[in-house]
Parts: sequence; structure tokens; C-alpha cells
Amino acid sequence: MWFRRCPTTEQLDDFVAHPEVENPVAEHLPKCEECRAAVQSLLAEKHVLDDLRQATATDLNDARREQIVDICRDAARGTPKDAHA
Ligand SMILES: [Zn+2]
Repeated sequence: MWFRRCPTTEQLDDFVAHPEVENPVAEHLPKCEECRAAVQSLLAEKHVLDDLRQATATDLNDARREQIVDICRDAARGTPKDAHA
């Protein structure tokens, strides 16, 4: 399977989140500088979020931690879920 166009952000997210799963994104990346750059920044973001999960692993329950991670991810992307509110 090949992408006629670039994969969506969700597809790139999936690829970064589950690198062990076979994914057509892997075949697209060598051909597309733009998507390589996008994956690089997603990887950097993932690294920060992983750090954040570890840093908050002590006192907070999982739901609360994921909430904080989500907030930070949205802040990093500049696209808060309730931006229109
Ligand atoms: Zn692309």
C-alpha cells in the first residue's frame, strides 16, 4: 500500500506510537521530506510526553496523569480541544 498523498496526522501519530506495527507510513517517509520532519517533531513530542508520564508516576492516578499529558500535548501543538469555546 502506498499513499497517493501524505498520511494524515493521525496516521503519523499511529506510526510514532506503534513503531513495531507494520505501517505504510514507513514506506512513505523516505520519499517525503515534509513527513519526515513531521515524524521527527512527533518523536520529540513523544519523548517529552514519556518523560512527563514518568515524572508524574508517583502521586497521581493514571486518569489524572493522562489528563495532564493530554493538556501538555495540546499546549505543545497549539490546538486545545476547546479552542472554539
Ligand atoms: Zn508526505
